[in-house]
Amino acid sequence: MELSPRQETILDIVRREGPITGEHIAERLNLTRATLRPDMAILTMAGLVEARPRVGYYMSNKNRGRLQTEHLRRVRVGDIKSVPVAVMDHCSVYDAAVTMFTEDVGTLFVVREGGILEGVVSRKDFLKVSLGGQDMHKLPVSVIMTRMPNVVVAEPEETVWQAARKIITHAVDALPVVRPVREGEGQTLYEVIGRLSKTNITRLFVELGEGS
Ligand code: ADP
Repeated sequence: MELSPRQETILDIVRREGPITGEHIAERLNLTRATLRPDMAILTMAGLVEARPRVGYYMSNKNRGRLQTEHLRRVRVGDIKSVPVAVMDHCSVYDAAVTMFTEDVGTLFVVREGGILEGVVSRKDFLKVSLGGQDMHKLPVSVIMTRMPNVVVAEPEETVWQAARKIITHAVDALPVVRPVREGEGQTLYEVIGRLSKTNITRLFVELGEGS
């Protein structure tokens, strides 16, 4: 059901201040109670708001669920991203593995000067190379990484919803959050500005469940 901007505002007032009388809602909006009556009737009939005599309007459980879904659709990657953990492309596999432990992350981003994204390394990449018996002190991390353009990225303006879908579709644990930087021949490079992992999304899920 499509609500008018005024009805959305009323829902917002009831959510924040309910139980609240019709008179107080009208005051907040600088309108008369009579003007508001059709809106209140629609919201009550739709089951989004409930009314009790001498108490006022308050949010129904149906509305609570609707607000949470809307909130989830509105959260952007930029709102919940973490600080990125990156290593330079010439860093050894050994040093990169140590960074993974000290920084306590499961995915490292591999960058060159200017923080430009070159690739991604995860725990499985390290396991694979350790089985091969190569010298991890000599091997640069760029040899074992998943490299551009095969890295799946997210931009801060994207919704978390869309980014979560990418994580599921590509079966990865984290996405570098990037800003496109145009260079020369129309080639697009990506500067790493954050990290979006399954943990960020799980945290959001918990917060929504707790109603914050
Ligand atoms: P783990 O190795 O801890 O299970 P992932 O499932 O994320 O972590 O990684 C599996 C493979 O996918 C690895 O080879 C890794 O390099 C690659 N990978 C990780 N993140 C991305 C990404 N955002 N885009 C493309 N490939 C990725």
